[in-house]
Amino acid sequence: PGKKVLIVYAHQEPKSFNGSLLKIAVEELTKQGCSVTVSDLYAMQFEPRATRNDIVGHLHNSEAFNYGVETWEAYKRGGLSKDLVQEQKKVQEADLLIFQFPLFWFSMPAILKGWMDRVLVQGFAYDLSKAYDGGLLQDKLSLFSFTTGGSKEKYAIRGDIRYLLWPMQHGIMHFCGVKVLEPHICYAPEHASEEKRKEMLTAWTQRLKTLWKEEPIDCSPEWYFK
Ligand code: FAD
Ligand code: ZN
Repeated sequence: PGKKVLIVYAHQEPKSFNGSLLKIAVEELTKQGCSVTVSDLYAMQFEPRATRNDIVGHLHNSEAFNYGVETWEAYKRGGLSKDLVQEQKKVQEADLLIFQFPLFWFSMPAILKGWMDRVLVQGFAYDLSKAYDGGLLQDKLSLFSFTTGGSKEKYAIRGDIRYLLWPMQHGIMHFCGVKVLEPHICYAPEHASEEKRKEMLTAWTQRLKTLWKEEPIDCSPEWYFK
């Protein structure tokens, strides 16, 4: 109770399976007394492109544009665009970040990747010698909750799904100092029976009930590639 949760949600359709997973999380966490904020990226028409428009006012070096340097400098002088500042404030206040999305090409949809690219600015999320366990977003938890097209059996044969989580969980969240909870994967909802779909939704509710008792994973190469 009293915990703050930010759900970053990337699906176009509220009636989708992802939409149902979002709804469940909002309801269950609110019921627990958490305060829940949702960034519904498609509904917000969130800009995924990392461009000069992200910097308000003068550029640090207008001769040759360097996105990383410019956003870092802009962050320090309070010159990032309003949409970024708003998302950073939500991240700053959150104890837990939940990412809810359908798997696109073994990764996250571009709009969510754009959120990562633009919001997790140097100076805000990490710094020169402040990365991984020293990252700037310590004492926060993250959870990747996603759906797939492929079945669990196919993933078991064709390569462990944990390989795909290395860039997202380790490369992004752990890099910024955020601890990582076990991912929540709903396999192939489109090909499942109505009964199986209901089961998957119930499993998510059940998991959320004891979420705050969970320990983060040991986010090291062994977890992914052992
Ligand atoms: P939906 O189609 O919205 O939902 C499935 C069914 O559940 C629907 O019939 C819906 O009506 C129903 N439903 C919704 N809510 C409820 C409810 N409350 N109770 C019961 N039923 C409900 N897959 C991979 O495995 N690997 C990839 O690399 C990959 N790359 C992709 C790349 C692209 C560009 C695209 C478009 C898809 C890709 N996919 C991939 C497939 C994608 O991951 C799946 O299509 C997606 O995860 C399915 O989730 P959804 O929420 O869109 O399902
Ligand atoms: Zn890690």
